[in-house]
Amino acid sequence: MEYGINYKQINLIKFSEYFKTEEDCRQYLFKMRWPEGFICPQCGHNEYSYHSTRQLYQCKACKYQASVTAGTIFHKTRTSLLKWFWAIFLMTRQKAGVSAKGLQRMLGLNRYPTAWLMCHKIRKAMEDRDKKYKLSGLIEMDESYFGGKKSGKRGRGAEGKAIVAVSVENRGEHAGFASMKVIDEATSDELAAVAEEKFIKEKSIVKTDGFSSYKYLKKIGFSHISEKAGGSDAAKVLPWVHTLISNAKSAIQGIFHGVSSKHLQRFLDEYCYRFNRRFKESELFDRLVTACVRTFTVTYTELTA
Ligand SMILES: [Zn+2]
Repeated sequence: MEYGINYKQINLIKFSEYFKTEEDCRQYLFKMRWPEGFICPQCGHNEYSYHSTRQLYQCKACKYQASVTAGTIFHKTRTSLLKWFWAIFLMTRQKAGVSAKGLQRMLGLNRYPTAWLMCHKIRKAMEDRDKKYKLSGLIEMDESYFGGKKSGKRGRGAEGKAIVAVSVENRGEHAGFASMKVIDEATSDELAAVAEEKFIKEKSIVKTDGFSSYKYLKKIGFSHISEKAGGSDAAKVLPWVHTLISNAKSAIQGIFHGVSSKHLQRFLDEYCYRFNRRFKESELFDRLVTACVRTFTVTYTELTA
């Protein structure tokens, strides 16, 4: 089987021809994990024998038994790899992703929690991937309320709503990398924490509106420019951050009909993950499978805690 599918050109029919069996998926993971051929994780030897019943690759030198799914989000899963591959494909195929309910129906999963957990594990892999990247250059930053329609006093969370700090690189003609983070309150401390975590300080200029909480950025060493922006001016002062906020809101509300603020962060991560790779669409499936292979799993208990 050929490795690496062109995601942009693949449709449902081609995908179903490409991955027909459990074995197809496992071989795909094998090539992803060992692109140059098997290498023993224990001793580095390259000869192995395959134990088909337990799906383990045993090193001929040290007898270590390696598995393609150990330490990945597929580890000890009772759901077939084929269903996992379909879930990854369907989640990336549409701009707004797919709901757990939709996934359960499309994949014929017996239990809703199974579908829900799959979605969240895949989102966790996206989140882990984007954590490695930091924003730089001219960065637009703003906060926005997600969920509900009432507007509260700025800086404080209104009933049933979450405040999200939104940042995006302004690269002139287009937006660069984006990040969205749920915060408790739009205070100096919380907004500064987002900047410290996500921006490369020495290589960034942070642009915001005149909201007082952003003034602190300069005190902690960021280059900061603020411009008063009221009403219709807001979109002119911070064009990319406003486009991003309105698109993210319509995508999330359209498919999920309001997400609980507890899980909002994961949905935002998914949105950013896709947004940040919109120019690399053809590689999206491979990239996401790779992310899933390199992410340690989260359990249902951890997610619902
Ligand atoms: Zn070995």
